[in-house]
Parts: sequence; C-alpha cells; structure tokens
Amino acid sequence: MSRKKNKIKIDSPPAQTQPAGIYIHIPFCIQKCSYCDFYSITNLRFKQEFIEALKQEMHLCSESSLQFDSLYIGGGTPSILESEQIREIIETAYPCFQIMPAAEITIEINPGTVSLDKLKHYRSFNINRINIGIQSFQDAQLKFLGRIHSSKQAEISINGARKAGFENLGLDLIYGIPGQTVKSWLSDLKRAVEFEPEHLSCYMLTYESGTPMEIDLQKGCFTPLSESFIAELYLATISFLNARGYIQYEISNFAKSKSNRSRHNRKYWSFAPYIGLGPSAHSYLEPCRRWNHRCLKSYIKDLAAGCLPIAGQEILTQQQQMIEVIYLGLRQTDGIALDEFEKKFGVGFEQLFADVLSFLKERGFIRPIQTHCALLPEGMLLLDSITSMFVEQIPYGFSVTLIGS
Ligand code: SF4
Repeated sequence: MSRKKNKIKIDSPPAQTQPAGIYIHIPFCIQKCSYCDFYSITNLRFKQEFIEALKQEMHLCSESSLQFDSLYIGGGTPSILESEQIREIIETAYPCFQIMPAAEITIEINPGTVSLDKLKHYRSFNINRINIGIQSFQDAQLKFLGRIHSSKQAEISINGARKAGFENLGLDLIYGIPGQTVKSWLSDLKRAVEFEPEHLSCYMLTYESGTPMEIDLQKGCFTPLSESFIAELYLATISFLNARGYIQYEISNFAKSKSNRSRHNRKYWSFAPYIGLGPSAHSYLEPCRRWNHRCLKSYIKDLAAGCLPIAGQEILTQQQQMIEVIYLGLRQTDGIALDEFEKKFGVGFEQLFADVLSFLKERGFIRPIQTHCALLPEGMLLLDSITSMFVEQIPYGFSVTLIGS
C-alpha cells in the first residue's frame, strides 16, 4: 500500500448527504472479559504514547471536509484513561474536525474504573452522553463474564453519572448467560429500568472464536442455553421494555424516544460516513471501508513515521453495498426504505425480491410493506438466515477489490 509521509487528505464522498461520525477506540482494559473479542490490551504502560499517536492520527485526518454530528469514545475501556487524557482527546478533535454545535459526544465507561470526580470531568469536557457497560446486576453472572466490577459498583456508577449531570444515559446488558432464567433476566431489566436510562442495549451473549469463554464451551465446562430459550428471552425483552416505554429501534437497541436513539450506532446501520481512529478502528467513506492495525505497537509505529496506520481497505461493489443495505436495514425496526433502495441501486426492492418477500409474508416474519420493508421480532430472530435468502436473489457479477494487507 502506498503511504504519503505528510498530511494525508481523507477523501469525502461526492456529496455529504448525512452528517458523519467519529469513533475513537481506546485499546486498554484492566482485564479481558472472557467473552470479548474486541481489540484491547491489559498492559497500561503505553497509555500516553497511545494518546500522542491518536492526536497525530487526528491531525493527519484533519483535512476532511465532512461535518460531524457525533463523536464516540469507545473501546476497550475509555474510562481507564486519566481525565486529562480524555480532555486532550476532545480538545484535539474539535480543531481537527468540523464537529457540529449540537453533536452527540459519548463516552463508554466500565463501572470498575470511574469515580464521581471523573464523571464530573467528562461532563465538563462537553461530553453529553454516557454509555455504561453494566452487563448484569447479578454478581455470579458478572463473575462468569469475567467483568472487573460488582453490581453494587454498577449502581454507584449509574447514580454518579446522574449526579455529574448526564441527562442522556445508556446501559448495556447481556442476556443468554448460561444458567439464566426468564425470571432472572427480567429482574435485571427491571433493575435497569428503575434507573430510567434514556437508552438500553440488550446484547445476546455470543461465543466468539478463540475467546476464553468459547474455549471453555468447547471443553464442555458449562452448558449453553438452547437457541429456543434464548429466543424466548429475546421476545420477553421486547415485550417487557415496550410495556415500559422503551421502543425497540434495532435488533439489540431500545430508546425512550427517537431523540434518544444512539446517533453513533445509527451511522453504521444507515451507510453514513464515519471515521474510526485508534487501533482496529474502521472507517467508511462510500464506497471505501478501511481499518487500522489491530496492534497498538504497529499503530504507534506508523503514526510516529507520519503515516496513517491503515492495515487494509476494500472498495465495496454495488453488490456488496446491496447486501449491507439489506443486512443493516433489516436490523432496524424502521427497515429498508424502498425509495432510497431504488434510488441507490436503480432497481425496485419489491420487484427484485418478490419471491423472498412473499415467503416471509406467509410466515409472518415481515411487517406489511408500504414505504419500508421491516422485520417483525420473530423475523429478527432469524436475521442471518433471512438476509441469506435476499443475498441469494442478488444478481451475481461483482467482486471485491482488496487493497493492503
Ligand atoms: S471491558 Fe469491554 S472491551 Fe474490555 S474486555 Fe471487557 S467487554 Fe472487552
């Protein structure tokens, strides 16, 4: 891959039709949770070196002409950094990017790494949304997941976030944990709702290849829940949260109102442009997706040499874009906008997928089609299989252009 040594311009899409997002990946954790395959390391010695590299990366990307309405500091564990380091990140980002005045600025925190002071500092840095990785309110489950915090610490961090002045609060929970019952999962949801968060993400536990949990599963160290029971938990989640005023807008995400939907996550699902900074972060600027080194050392080395730390990129073909529009659209309760699909691909959605749509209609997996094609909860449970049915109908004849390592 050719790399320029000086400042590098990030080409923006021909015309920006929707505001862009910035994602900053903080690659440190105190310890690895047993289910996690995100890139992070537990050696914290390189925190300041990372910050210097990140600032350099922001400067190298700073010619972008895009306008941004969201900035998300995720990871890893952003709250492992000193408050001053978070301040440095934000103070560098503002002059480098055109961040709109009412932008959503989010930080993810791990309850085991925050104090009230830290939370107050975040708020004073113009961070206006906080996302807390609670995962469970039950200590035995937290232990199974390898989390560093207790349920008590989780509660203290939620109360602390409110005290610090966060009015936009999101909580992450995990269901499908071995041994979980409908009763114990609903008690977690009930506890979460008592804090009146503006946003709730309920993720199904998945066994990612090579994680300690997946290895233990292969060894037979525990019995996973059955697929049908997990489906039951999923449907119970939707009806429990709907009854309490939380509207599902994506397969795993619920919000109190439309304005509380995560702007950042929606970038990924709506093909909006986004720039990812930090090791392993991905960027998408239509039709190009690229990703940074999944290695802090290589990331720092490239930036020290004045290069962007890009590990690879791909130009999405029309066919790939269509697959993504379908997969990402069907994840959302709003579904796929038929007029946008036709405008983008020059072919009518209903015309192209008539057979699949009638199959799904017969089985009660999709909502009646008017302006959008959207799955019902029973259909969302089969998202991957349903997406494959659509994919099989897409005319073949395109290939991926892979550049880089
Ligand atoms: S704290 Fe988050 S990023 Fe770190 S290991 Fe756990 S789940 Fe992964």
